[in-house]
Amino acid sequence: MPADLERCVDFARRLIRTPSPPGEEGEVARLVGDEMRALGYDEVVVDDAGNVLGLFRGRGAAPALAFNSHLDHVGVGDPAAWPHPPFAAHLADDVVWGRGAVDIKGPLAAQVVGVAAALSAEPPPGDVWVTCVVQEEIGGVGARHLAPRLEASLFVIGEPSGNAVRRGHRGRVELRLHLAGRSAHASVPDEGRNPLFGLGRFLGGLDGLEPATHAELGASTLVPTLLSTDQASANVIPGEAWLTLDARTVPGQDVEGLRARLEELAVRAAGAGVAAQVTIPVSRRVTYTGLEMSIPADNPAYVLPAEHPAVRGAVALVADEIGQRPLDVWRFATDGGHFARHGAVPVGFGPGDPLLAHTVDERIEVVALEEALRANGRLSRELPAAITRRRR
Ligand SMILES: [Zn+2]
Repeated sequence: MPADLERCVDFARRLIRTPSPPGEEGEVARLVGDEMRALGYDEVVVDDAGNVLGLFRGRGAAPALAFNSHLDHVGVGDPAAWPHPPFAAHLADDVVWGRGAVDIKGPLAAQVVGVAAALSAEPPPGDVWVTCVVQEEIGGVGARHLAPRLEASLFVIGEPSGNAVRRGHRGRVELRLHLAGRSAHASVPDEGRNPLFGLGRFLGGLDGLEPATHAELGASTLVPTLLSTDQASANVIPGEAWLTLDARTVPGQDVEGLRARLEELAVRAAGAGVAAQVTIPVSRRVTYTGLEMSIPADNPAYVLPAEHPAVRGAVALVADEIGQRPLDVWRFATDGGHFARHGAVPVGFGPGDPLLAHTVDERIEVVALEEALRANGRLSRELPAAITRRRR
């Protein structure tokens, strides 16, 4: 095994062996910072949110480029359901198993090591950052903190893509319906104002909402997911009911307009004596460094045209380095949406099968890491220049 690949595989396995759920990324952040220093990064910074940022300083004025991945991962559920223990980083037949193997510790290692292998001997034309952010899995706390602060307009998002270029995804918005009526004993229903009848009419009315459509990302979707009331007894009419809806949005869709339409529908459906309100919930998050942020459940969609110079440049460089791969979009939302919201251009590229993310079969092939190392190195040297050339 070549030295860079051996280092990447070893680093990915040490990352997997260090659990880092959202809010508890401190130890893995230290690992990443130590690795960057050992690999010769010019500067390694941990920002207020706990994001780890490694820099190779550019020799000229080419646009700054930022690689991006995240430090956290989703839960493991029942460890007994896993073919190999989720934090053992089991390696057999050139496959690394475990939580984070594809989402996103394998891809993170391929960015940190691949960029260093390409740039430590010779400075790039412009600044190149490798950014590893906190709390991606619970609303993008780290990316929301970083996006307005980092001076880079071009990103490579390392979420797994089978080492093909990705140019966008639908967004994810959570909406919460609250119906407030009046509780009463179930034997005297006329004394109460039962919000569940209005909730039923509201659900029926969802069929009548036209989805927003996008030529490349398809239709938006809206799905009711969670339901609760203020009561635990079967013989009491509830006074309040809550319904959560998961909306997958397309670029340009008016999220506030969607909220307002749903509220209108809810007010019509609620019935006499029942008040209705639809909100986008806001969660208070605290990072492992103690930074507090209020995060609305609104993760933006974005898409870059296939002809965008960054997309064309990335497709050409990847094809030249590891062979032609189909250009596509992701099925899930990423931190790329937060950077796009601040005017940046996020191109997606990462090793591993995206369908294995968040599953008990999560694993990554060593050959995928090897390709990603080379492609990331190539992108770190040449992607900004490809764009500058095309702009002239
Ligand atoms: Zn991820």
